[in-house]
Amino acid sequence: MKIVLATANPHKLQEIKAICGDCEIEFALPASGFNPIENGSTFEENSYIKAKEAYRVSKSYSLADDSGLCVDALNGAPGLFSARYAGSQDEKIEKLLNELKDKSNRKAKFVCCMTLLNENGEIAFQTIEECGGEIVKERKGINGFGYDPIFKVDGYSTTMAELSEKEKNTISHRAKALRKVLEYIRKNLI
Ligand code: IMP
Repeated sequence: MKIVLATANPHKLQEIKAICGDCEIEFALPASGFNPIENGSTFEENSYIKAKEAYRVSKSYSLADDSGLCVDALNGAPGLFSARYAGSQDEKIEKLLNELKDKSNRKAKFVCCMTLLNENGEIAFQTIEECGGEIVKERKGINGFGYDPIFKVDGYSTTMAELSEKEKNTISHRAKALRKVLEYIRKNLI
């Protein structure tokens, strides 16, 4: 079964392929012209917007992931704006560490909403999953992407960027969401 993945982010494609492993699904990138306008007000809405846009250009099963980092002391920011919080990823991390400079509560969570559209462009399945943790004061680790070097995972003494790819793909918000999607696909579509 072929599913178009509604993303232009190569890290996400790579993580999703790795989580899926040797599974029966072939993931492909959207056809040209994929340009979602992420103007929703929730992860669910933005995930649907991306899946719909991938369906518009590819006319096939489409799966979108909308994800972000929500920090308690910042009332959930950067949240939906995680990708647009500042210029480079380094600047985004710097800005976040600065905002948290005087805060004792450093609790945070990664959130991932996945939306699967069927061959008619209708929602077949949607799920939202989380991975809890806290923001550390200095970057650690070189694996993963995005905010991984400053996110210490609950129950671990390391940041997400210090985990191996295999470990991250067992516990991450994206892995949890994708496992639910795969469960749905296996039960209902293949
Ligand atoms: P999206 O492409 O609109 O879903 O934006 C997601 C943004 O959230 C990414 O650009 C990252 O900054 C951040 N993010 C989402 N998932 C992760 C993750 O697994 N690790 C680190 N950062 C993440």
